[in-house]
Amino acid sequence: MTNASILTTKRRLLAGAAAGAAALALPRPGLAKMPLGQPQVPTFYRFKLGSAECTVVTDGQLPLGDPNASFVNITHEEIARELTDNFLPTQNAVLEQNILVANFGDRVVLFDTGMGADHLFGSTTGKLLPTLRQAGIDPANVDAVVMSHAHIDHCGGLVGDNAALNFPNAQYFIGQADFDYWTDDAKIPANYPARANFLAQARKNLLPVRERIHFYRDGEEILPGVTALAAPGHTVSHSIFMINSGGQQLCYIGDLAHHPVLLLEHPRTQFAYDTDPVQSAESRVRMLGMLSANRVPVLAYHFAWPGIGHVAAAGDGFRYFPVLPQMGAVTGL
Ligand SMILES: [Zn+2]
Repeated sequence: MTNASILTTKRRLLAGAAAGAAALALPRPGLAKMPLGQPQVPTFYRFKLGSAECTVVTDGQLPLGDPNASFVNITHEEIARELTDNFLPTQNAVLEQNILVANFGDRVVLFDTGMGADHLFGSTTGKLLPTLRQAGIDPANVDAVVMSHAHIDHCGGLVGDNAALNFPNAQYFIGQADFDYWTDDAKIPANYPARANFLAQARKNLLPVRERIHFYRDGEEILPGVTALAAPGHTVSHSIFMINSGGQQLCYIGDLAHHPVLLLEHPRTQFAYDTDPVQSAESRVRMLGMLSANRVPVLAYHFAWPGIGHVAAAGDGFRYFPVLPQMGAVTGL
C-alpha cells in the first residue's frame, strides 16, 4: 500500500466514524420500545386514621353500562349534562369497588367483599383476594367482615367456589332484614333486575356463615371504634359505619350514593337497584347532610378509586371533593 492509499483509507475510516457518530446522535426508532399491556398502579392504597392503619383494596371495576338505564327520576339530557360537565364518559357508568381494611392493631376489620365469582357485570370484578395479597394482607388474619348490605357486590366474596370460607377466622356483621330478604326467593320482587343472580349470590355466601353472623342494630357500636348507622332504602337494612381511631373519624358510606355526581348534585335522583328509591334518597340527603355539616371524611364503595373524600353542601344537593392520593404515608384525611 502506498502512502497515498494509506492516507485515503484513513480518511475513509475517519469519515465513516464521523458518520457513525452522527447516526448515534439521531433518534433510534424501535430500540426503546417496551411491551404494551403493563399493569395499572398497585391496586391498594394505605393511609392512617388515628392509630389505625387503613388500606383500600379493590374487587375491580364494575361497569354498569348505559347510565340512563340505572339512574332514574332524572332526564337523559340532565344525565348527559352532568356527566359532560364533570368530564365523565356519557355511555358507560363505571363504578369502582373500594374495599376498606382497617387494622386497629389488635383487630383487622374488612368492609364489604365484592362480587366473588359472579360475573353479572363482566370479568373485571372478583379481584379481592389477589389485591389483598398484593397489599400483604392474609385473609386468615381478618377478624371481622362488616357488610353494609346483602347485595351481590358486597357479600359475594365470603365463600370460594370450592365452598371454603375466604376469611376462615372472621366474625360476620350484617343487618338481619337484609339477610332475610336476599336469601328468600319469596321476598325479592319478581321484576328486580337480575334477581336470580342476587338471590343465588346471597344464599351461596351468607347461608354457610349464618351461625357466625352478628346482626347489628342502628346506632350499635359493633366493634370498638366501629358504629353502625341505619341508612335504609337502597336495601331494607342498608347501613353505613362511623369509624373512630385516636380522635380521627371516617365514615364508610357503602352504597349511600353510587355515583359522585349523578346522585349528589340532585340527591333525590333514584337508582334502579334500590328496593325503596324514595326512602333511599331520604337516607342519602339526611346522612350526607350530617357528614358535610360535620366535615367527616368519607370512603365511598363505588366512587372513583380509592373513594376517599369529603362531601359539602352545594346548591340543592352536594359536591364530592376527592382526597388527592399521596405518595408518602397519609397521616390524616
Ligand atoms: Zn354496591
